[in-house]
Amino acid sequence: MIEMKNVIKKYANGVIAANGIDVKINQGEFVYVVGPSGAGKSTFIKMMHREEKPTQGTILINGVNLAKLKNSKVPLLRRNMGVVFQDFKLLPTLTVYENVAFALEVIEENPKLIKKRVMEVLGLVGLKHKARMLPTELSGGEQQRVSIARSIVNSPKLVIADEPTGNLDPETSWEIMNIFEEINNRGTTIVMATHNKEIVNTIRHRVIAIEGGRIVRDEQRGDYGYEG
Ligand code: ADP
Ligand code: ADP
Repeated sequence: MIEMKNVIKKYANGVIAANGIDVKINQGEFVYVVGPSGAGKSTFIKMMHREEKPTQGTILINGVNLAKLKNSKVPLLRRNMGVVFQDFKLLPTLTVYENVAFALEVIEENPKLIKKRVMEVLGLVGLKHKARMLPTELSGGEQQRVSIARSIVNSPKLVIADEPTGNLDPETSWEIMNIFEEINNRGTTIVMATHNKEIVNTIRHRVIAIEGGRIVRDEQRGDYGYEG
């Protein structure tokens, strides 16, 4: 479903954050992206949702080349993938319900179906009872659950996450990981950049290690491979 071919990303300041990335990720995989700070993990993730455009190379997602995709088509691309960030990025003036419903409301989905689907995904993340609350009334872990619910409300085949447990304590991080596991078990591809050694070494999945903008390791059921 995802294929990168000789992807190079050079930022305006001259930094080369991706330096010839070649990778294939199949439907249903769970992939951790690891590596030191500044290695290019975020850039790799950002190119997948067209937050950044590659300078050179091809990025195919379900046959669509993101390197050539018109800006006007980017919203359509993002409707078919979920994105989860370290800092949640919830809309602070909207309730939990409204944050999750938003993506369905913009596509003018049928209101009954919206309500059913929103309550279903809030149920999956265990937050039905907090639907009326504002993000500021929730703990960090709860806010991340809302952002995960938002990411899957459109039933995407792909969810990408950049350090989703980076701001959370260990126990909460495990809870969040269990939700990603559940989503993956239902057939959704997950690509997750993470620094969480414990999690990578316990919930085993494919590990892609990036250093200096290059993939230096790609192992099925790999380990984290760096000191804590
Ligand atoms: P990681 O997520 O592994 O920490 P990043 O992809 O954020 O790595 O960064 C890779 C390199 O690109 C770093 O040297 C970083 O400073 C640089 N970089 C990231 N974003 C930008 C940007 N918008 N402009 C210039 N350089 C950037
Ligand atoms: P359940 O039957 O599962 O308890 P409800 O239909 O009572 O679900 O709704 C639960 C929560 O979802 C309520 O707190 C309500 O605020 C919120 N909610 C439901 N529908 C909407 C809506 N259309 N807009 C905003 N919030 C809603």
